[in-house]
Amino acid sequence: MNVLIVYAHPEPSSLNGALKDFSVKRLEAAGHAVRVSDLYAMQWKAVVDPNDSSEHVPGTPFNVSAESARALRNGTQSEDIAAEQEKLKWADAVIFQFPLWWFSMPAIMKGWVDRVYAYGFAYGVGEHSDKRWGDRYGEGSLAGKRAMLIVTTGGWEPHYSARGINGPIDDLLFPIQHGMLFYPGFDVLPPFLVYRTGRMDEAKFSQACDALGRRLDELWSTRPIPYRRQNAGDYDIPECTLKDDVAPGATGFGAHVAR
Ligand code: FAD
Repeated sequence: MNVLIVYAHPEPSSLNGALKDFSVKRLEAAGHAVRVSDLYAMQWKAVVDPNDSSEHVPGTPFNVSAESARALRNGTQSEDIAAEQEKLKWADAVIFQFPLWWFSMPAIMKGWVDRVYAYGFAYGVGEHSDKRWGDRYGEGSLAGKRAMLIVTTGGWEPHYSARGINGPIDDLLFPIQHGMLFYPGFDVLPPFLVYRTGRMDEAKFSQACDALGRRLDELWSTRPIPYRRQNAGDYDIPECTLKDDVAPGATGFGAHVAR
């Protein structure tokens, strides 16, 4: 299988760097082909701007979605964007690895999503009408591929529990896992989390690697998070709200997971 690791940490000798190196070795030892998009090492440009298409006419308004769609269609996207899209097409599974910064991904990785997820590639896919609201949330260009987050946090596990002060980790990661991964079609596996990184030592690192190794070994058999598919009958279209008889009374992020 082909595995792409999209990785964001500025320091190669960091905990994240060590975990990324471990993952590459483990996956390669199991016979998988692995490619890494090391965003800091690549000096990835994190901002969307008119230079993302060679067709933009200076002095004219820059419409992000429209220019993104046109550049994808005409093959005029900047080369770094097209190269990452090719890696996504190549991959059977994509791992996004990052330290939790301000309860989300580092800006450089958000900028990777903003730029690589072009209109017509990750959104604006499929028929949009009163009967169908596009191929998204379980369908789309990346359907059939698996995705998983590897996230490290300074905070302790209980801080991210159901009643923890930071909010439940499933809620914090919902915009990424549901919004950025399930939306364009990925099957999203439960995240691999390393909490309380300030207390990391050799013994804990070894335990983390053991646990991560098992998750990587099970990348193809782990049951994805059962997010509800937009076009499988649970939602009224075009409102895209849950039907009254689906999880009655349930609201919030958890309502979109079929328990
Ligand atoms: P490092 O700092 O590289 O290492 C962490 C520890 O692991 C160190 O003690 C190091 O000695 C040890 N270590 C490293 N490599 C090894 C190895 N190979 N073997 C054994 N030990 C090793 N945390 C939150 O919970 N929520 C937040 O919202 C949040 N926001 C943040 C925002 C910013 C801007 C920053 C800088 C930090 C934030 N943090 C937050 C903390 C952050 O999530 C952690 O600092 C990060 O996850 C640690 O990962 P690292 O790779 O940077 O670790």
